[in-house]
Amino acid sequence: MARVYVAGTPVETADAATVLDAIRASGRELPTLCHDDRLVPRGSCRICLVAADRRAVAACTTPVHDGMMIDPGDPVARAAARGTLELIVSELPARALGIPPERSELVRVCASVGVERGAFTGAVHTRGTDDSHPYIGVDRDLCIACGRCVAMCADVQGTFALELAGRGFDTVVTAGDGGAWAQSPCVSCGGCVDSCPTGALYDKHAVGRTATATTTTTCGYCGVGCALDVHTDAAGIVAVTPTHHAPVNRGHACVKGRFAHGFVTSGDRLTQPLLRAAGRGSPLRPATWEEALAYIARELTRVRDTHGGDAIGMICSARATNEENYLAQKIARTVLRTNNIDNCSRLCHAPTAAGLTASFGFAGGTNSFDDLDRADCILVAGANPTEAHPVVGSRIVHRVHAGARLVVVDPRRTELADLADVHLRGVPGSNVAVFNALARLLLDSGQVDHDYLRDRTTGLDELTALLADYSAERVAAVAGVPASALADAARLFGSARHPVILYGLGITEHAHGTDGVRTLANLALLRGTVGTADGCGVLPLRGQNNVQGASDMGALPDVLPGYQRLADPAVRERFSRGWGVPIPERPGLRIPAMFGAALDGGLRALYVIGEDLVSSDPDAGHVRAALAACELVISQDVFLSRTAELADVVLPAASFLEKDGTFVNFDRRFQRVRPALDPPGGVRTDFDILRAVAAALGADPGCPTPAAALDECARLTPAFGGISHDRLDRVGPLHWPCPDPGHPGTPVLHLDRFATADGRAALAARPYLPPGEEPDAEYPFVLVTGRRLAHYNTGSMTRRTPNAELLAGETLDIATDDAAALGVAAGDPVEIRSRRGRMVLPARPTDEVAPGQVFTAFHFPQAPTNELTSRSADEVTDCPEYKVTAVTLRSFTEERK
Ligand code: SF4
Repeated sequence: MARVYVAGTPVETADAATVLDAIRASGRELPTLCHDDRLVPRGSCRICLVAADRRAVAACTTPVHDGMMIDPGDPVARAAARGTLELIVSELPARALGIPPERSELVRVCASVGVERGAFTGAVHTRGTDDSHPYIGVDRDLCIACGRCVAMCADVQGTFALELAGRGFDTVVTAGDGGAWAQSPCVSCGGCVDSCPTGALYDKHAVGRTATATTTTTCGYCGVGCALDVHTDAAGIVAVTPTHHAPVNRGHACVKGRFAHGFVTSGDRLTQPLLRAAGRGSPLRPATWEEALAYIARELTRVRDTHGGDAIGMICSARATNEENYLAQKIARTVLRTNNIDNCSRLCHAPTAAGLTASFGFAGGTNSFDDLDRADCILVAGANPTEAHPVVGSRIVHRVHAGARLVVVDPRRTELADLADVHLRGVPGSNVAVFNALARLLLDSGQVDHDYLRDRTTGLDELTALLADYSAERVAAVAGVPASALADAARLFGSARHPVILYGLGITEHAHGTDGVRTLANLALLRGTVGTADGCGVLPLRGQNNVQGASDMGALPDVLPGYQRLADPAVRERFSRGWGVPIPERPGLRIPAMFGAALDGGLRALYVIGEDLVSSDPDAGHVRAALAACELVISQDVFLSRTAELADVVLPAASFLEKDGTFVNFDRRFQRVRPALDPPGGVRTDFDILRAVAAALGADPGCPTPAAALDECARLTPAFGGISHDRLDRVGPLHWPCPDPGHPGTPVLHLDRFATADGRAALAARPYLPPGEEPDAEYPFVLVTGRRLAHYNTGSMTRRTPNAELLAGETLDIATDDAAALGVAAGDPVEIRSRRGRMVLPARPTDEVAPGQVFTAFHFPQAPTNELTSRSADEVTDCPEYKVTAVTLRSFTEERK
């Protein structure tokens, strides 16, 4: 600590503080223009000139020292700052000072310094505007070349799309090669817009509007869980900006969280319940809430009382809040009388829950995202974070530029693969072989922590014996990865002091996904870097915003909230007492088993909350058949999805921007979700709908408010005992486990012991097994599915925003040589056919995919990728093998001739 004196008043500061920090700590304002707390101080604008120890200094870049005397009002320094400001303003057109102060730092600074217009005469910028981008407006005449936008793009986003081009008076921000912004490599994170102090870069949606309220909430797109400030006026959302000091995203966001909010006012939102009152085959028609609820109550009661509760299934939503998921599973168990409840983690990270629980004892990532800051080797496996989890992707890029080594395991040449020291480009489905080879190399080279293995793990002998078969040379032949690359990767990971593992659906969505998680976890255990103060652990990159929370809340067929085992009589007894109703003992069905039971006649009613099963689940034809076999399908959603179109009753639900509650992000942080908007007339939150359905069934589920629901969950769930809305509002996000209100939360798991029965982590000796579906002569290509930056999941939200201008449709990414052999050029239609279905997509020849493989996403109804995917699934969890589908390709142009 240093003690400095600001205008004679003593102020304690950190040793690394600047004069600007000290002045602000003293409670004074000091205008700045080139400064942004998220960036390394630049000291280029000189608006913050003050006197320190009687010398004029730029406050933002001058470090303090003990005893420093700071005079923020020094007349010479402030006169120089004012002159500089007048000079800056004199180069700008008059409209620069006509911008509302809330949108221009320059206007606010001028007001505080007393500058009304430039005191100098001379040339004024006439560089023109760029309106090409759907979100970002560019008024080049207002650019003062402070460089904040360039620094945000480079140092925070990590894209390096912007630069200051030209010299002297002509210096101005440009994107890419200086052409239209929309054609540049800009990834539309909005960081430049948020940082620009003059309005040269601006959010086009906010022009002409003044926000009257700001609500801090959590992003409803991916599992990173960025905190967002939603600025609103009477007409709705004016702008969304990342919350500056939020612990997860630290003032950063991506194109989805930052800009893709327009779907809330989409003209095709559901605003009334729909009912197929004349039975199957009749059209859905608008109904009142009373009609719809009465119909649901009558039909659910009939099915339950005739066939038993297990004839009903409920699928919860990874997009809904924790409180909604908690209430849904409680109603399923206590009112519908079934454990047939599941959520879409079944389709993505169920192998994470199973694998991490088997290895470490808990179903969550072991460490905080913050630990990435000290990682010196980053192993990214089966994940494309710069597109699917962009804020994590940026932080990885930042660490690599700061010197961390990067190993990427991925069949595709992703953006991170291009940046990596080693890219292990194994064939899809070869993860277990690759991880076993790396484990063998670590053991053979002695790059393991023997004390840790002895004291804190079990299973080393079995693993060592298995690995005898996993020489780098043998795995090179199986996986198509050079043995030398395996050796390089093992050397980097093995020699790092703080290695971290981040992984995604490229590990889990396989026929042996749980084995993939476990053999990947082995690497952290061999190095002794999980459950230690030094280690950075294993972090699964969760897909949807609240897929962790939906499972945490017990929306699963075999566990209750907090992963408390349904099979444990003591657990059942506690919940039965807590809920005042005995809960059914028999474990429920997983989602795929629900479809099977529907076709077999055992499941007769399906209640679907916020999921578009037809678009997102594998083998869509099978899903449609299962829905058709049910006597009753209920869908509650924001839009009429392909699943809702097949339902008997559709209930209009609120979006995350209209909800109160919490989400749990990928590193186990509970974060608050607050309503920035009221739901449109006729629309209710999932929470209110569930309570209304329960009431219609003649039950009172308790939990009158979301806060009360989380309180009740916390009372029954030791891991969440210290978490409440009130506490989160006071102290901010909390990592579970957090067992009591005085507990600070647990950013790092397993520090004393693992959560397994014996307190030790279990090394897994799992052999490589081939994928469930392999290419053959008839279906010679492997289709890999994934995500694109601009869109999200089934695209229901992002397609209804200007993100659709950033990416208007899907493509089939195909290796350049394969495209040439097929005779297709960019944009030519290609028919993709699997054993289950077909679709036609325009080709995108690229070296991002390896020969023999093709890639696409499932964001667009015109690209119904899951018509093709198979029901082959992880043997432990039933998570579908989305990453390996054997397909055949044919030039559709040729076909049509
Ligand atoms: Fe939202 Fe994920 Fe983007 Fe953050 S990175 S703004 S959580 S979609």
